[in-house]
Amino acid sequence: MGKNEMIEYTLDPENWEQTEELGKKMLHDMLIHLKEVRQRPIMQRPPEEIQAAFRQPPPIMGEGAEKAYSDFQELVLSHQSNFNKDPRFWGFVVGTGSPSGMLADMLTSGLNVNMVGGPLISTMLEMQTTAWIKGMVGFPMTGGGIIVTGGTMANLLGLTVARNTKSGVNLREKGVQGITGKLIVYASSEAHVCIQKSIEMLGIGNENLHRVPVNEDYSMNVEVLPRMIKEDRDAGNTPICVVGCAGTVNTGAFDPLSKIADVCAEEDLWFHVDGAFGAWASITQKYKGLTEGMNRADSLALDLHKWMYMPYDVGCALFKRPEDQIRTFSERPDYYNMDKDTPPQFADLGFELSRSFRALKVWMGIKEHGVAKYSMLIERNINQAQYLAELIKARPELELMAPTPLNTVCFRYKDPSLPDAALDELNHNLNMGLMFSGAGAPSESKVKGRKVMRVCITNHRTSNKDLEHFVASAVQMGTMMASEMKKR
Ligand SMILES: *Cc1c(COP(=O)(O)O)cnc(C)c1O
Repeated sequence: MGKNEMIEYTLDPENWEQTEELGKKMLHDMLIHLKEVRQRPIMQRPPEEIQAAFRQPPPIMGEGAEKAYSDFQELVLSHQSNFNKDPRFWGFVVGTGSPSGMLADMLTSGLNVNMVGGPLISTMLEMQTTAWIKGMVGFPMTGGGIIVTGGTMANLLGLTVARNTKSGVNLREKGVQGITGKLIVYASSEAHVCIQKSIEMLGIGNENLHRVPVNEDYSMNVEVLPRMIKEDRDAGNTPICVVGCAGTVNTGAFDPLSKIADVCAEEDLWFHVDGAFGAWASITQKYKGLTEGMNRADSLALDLHKWMYMPYDVGCALFKRPEDQIRTFSERPDYYNMDKDTPPQFADLGFELSRSFRALKVWMGIKEHGVAKYSMLIERNINQAQYLAELIKARPELELMAPTPLNTVCFRYKDPSLPDAALDELNHNLNMGLMFSGAGAPSESKVKGRKVMRVCITNHRTSNKDLEHFVASAVQMGTMMASEMKKR
């Protein structure tokens, strides 16, 4: 084979120096992009001619790395909204990422490890990372853990192991077809939709996810739980699991985790906790009391791309007994041909086989900043939500719509002369207006049936000044919108 032929048939560059130059330019541009985050709009709509470019078929002949990158600059970088990178973005529950997280992701791609496990340094690193996470959130160190894409996957894994362990049949062999009676799972009416979707995917069915009512503060009313379990048992069904929320998505409420753990122990049920973001309150001195009882969970789902500010996507599922994971997932077909005695195979601990080395950015982030820094940032975000709630209470034009136990504030603009339906419309428009003006980006939700603006602060770039500006703008813009409405 001639030299030219070899060059022609690989994706490696012909000229590595040229690639290095391009790489340096990309790095420079992305660091500027992050450094100047405040100078761009939170949200922008791409013009039609740009949108048209995304309907083009793939090129048959390549245009080269430099041109591909200039296309990225022109089509993507110039038109991609700041969205969650913005210091004033507080919608949904999304993370900001960080510059060094971005660099770690480059290392991950460069190493391109397929994280199946085995006696590699990368295996040790992931095991250490999950051990650090267990330690940080106060989970038993004897537990098992696996890094996954996010909270949805972590909850699905937790509920899968719960189902297989507690169904009373060999579920891997028989499937849900082998069960007489119905499997029943309990979660509060405020639980995240990924719990429902998991229950649907697991063949249990949404109607068998029994919603436990909540108290005034949106925490699970655990008093009614034993009665619900008894009724289901009396009807010939098989309760298997209770899901506790450590930080509900809508208002940041904490279910009484210790009490749920007591009920689960009493009734021999699996105790799963969805702590996607709220679990991290446990690394703060001031708010760790909220997560009391979380360490008694049989499984715990959490995210690192939300409140640990890591770039997407990375989450973690923790299990009290690693053998429950292995019993659910382990299978060694001939073509893996892996020694049974080798260190952990990640496919034995979760569903996925090929996996990226996403543990690396977590490991490097914790090394760079240290646990104390994360604790400080998370505590500051919670303090900021408390501060925002105070600012809102001080303005007669604004109404706090739910308690603020954590980092999430639900509120609306109000005007006694406008009926609720009109206020719903106003608050929707106000939310959009605030976002497109750059004053701040909450997301929309409903509390007690009414439209609210929902600010969830998992943002290391937010300052108190941002919140003050946001509240002043909400009052000003809301007042303008209300007077327009009254003219109609
Ligand atoms: C975000 C979230 C999830 C889902 O996690 P993803 O990382 O988005 O898949 C589950 N539960 C809660 C409470 C969440 O906030």
